[in-house]
Amino acid sequence: MSEIKKTKLLVLGSGPAGYTAAIYAARAGLKPIVVQGIQPGGQLTTTTDVENYPGFRDVIQGPWLMEEMKAQAEHVGTETIWDHITEVDLSKRPFRLTGDSGTTYETETLVIATGAQAKWLNLPSEEHAKGRGASACATCDGFFYRGKKVAVIGGGNTAVEEALYLTNHSDDVTLIHRRDELRAEKILQDRLFANPKIKVLWDHAVDEFVLGGQPEALVGLNVRNVKTGEVSRVECEGAFVAIGHAPATELFKGQLAIDKDGYLEVEPGTPRTSIPGVFACGDVMDKHYRQAVTAAGTGCMAALDAERYLAELEFAEKETVAAE
Ligand code: FAD
Ligand code: NAP
Repeated sequence: MSEIKKTKLLVLGSGPAGYTAAIYAARAGLKPIVVQGIQPGGQLTTTTDVENYPGFRDVIQGPWLMEEMKAQAEHVGTETIWDHITEVDLSKRPFRLTGDSGTTYETETLVIATGAQAKWLNLPSEEHAKGRGASACATCDGFFYRGKKVAVIGGGNTAVEEALYLTNHSDDVTLIHRRDELRAEKILQDRLFANPKIKVLWDHAVDEFVLGGQPEALVGLNVRNVKTGEVSRVECEGAFVAIGHAPATELFKGQLAIDKDGYLEVEPGTPRTSIPGVFACGDVMDKHYRQAVTAAGTGCMAALDAERYLAELEFAEKETVAAE
């Protein structure tokens, strides 16, 4: 028989945003449930060294950090459940969510922390190059390529920002774009073209990530001029794919406001979505920063707002009873 689990606050997602929301909610006595999804611990479990999460002088490992967040959340009273939500009904309270396991979850408030995934070029050689020079996050990994040649693939705001950021570490940055004009905002383009450390390779597509040496590491990219078909090599030790992100918002289409890029819309400066009692935090609502610490920060905001929302509900219900 399928089970029904009831809670005051359900957190959907177990990345830094989800676990931080759970820690705050649990400490407020809300006994939250975290539904972990198919990637328990979120994106940081796919990386190794993390050097920019505050509080650690020495380099820490992404999977370890997420184990610690989970342990902290459980220690203060969170129930974590390994399930993947496939259906959501936000039309009335309590909100209802259905998991792969067959369990139905009924919750007074919902914190959505389902994250986003970087888009990749989907080349077989790219898969092999991940962790050996191919990255989708310059802020996270740029530091590891200081003094080395690097390349960025893409022509939007993210690609241009990543190229500019990388000049903090490298004097030789090549931006590879498949067309002859950028999609990025003019102001970013101006900064890019004015930076002597960056050159742009127009009309080129990446065909292959080339690895060499022992242990194997990226030595370059085989690229093709999409107009002439001519093939050449861009030498680089780091290649940053910046062709967009896909936020995990499929479940909420038609129920919550979603922007043109697929991110959950929130009231500016808050985690409040278009439905009272439903809050969003982390990469699923943030297309600009996409960092563990910002995800954790907005997770905290979501839990604090959910707690206030529940307190207001409780107060309103008492007032109604008193008036009857
Ligand atoms: P995520 O970490 O993406 O977690 C999303 C969660 O939602 C997952 O647990 C998933 O299982 C769950 N979920 C999704 N859909 C469902 C569903 N239907 N049902 C149930 N659960 C669901 N940031 C840094 O600050 N420093 C770094 O060094 C750094 N390195 C990175 C390296 C790599 C390779 C990558 C990919 C990212 C890196 N980042 C880094 C970025 C950082 O990981 C993200 O900004 C952060 O993880 C976002 O947290 P989040 O909680 O919003 O979502
Ligand atoms: P984006 O605007 O969708 O740009 C993606 C870029 O990657 C495009 O130039 C696209 O080329 C290229 N691309 C896509 N698929 C490709 C493929 N398979 N091979 C090669 N190139 C490919 O994505 P984004 O830059 O991540 O930005 C997403 C949203 O966030 C945008 O709305 C952006 O404005 C916003 N954002 C804003 C800021 C800011 O305001 N500072 C910063 C970051 C992001 P084409 O141009 O040919 O399509």
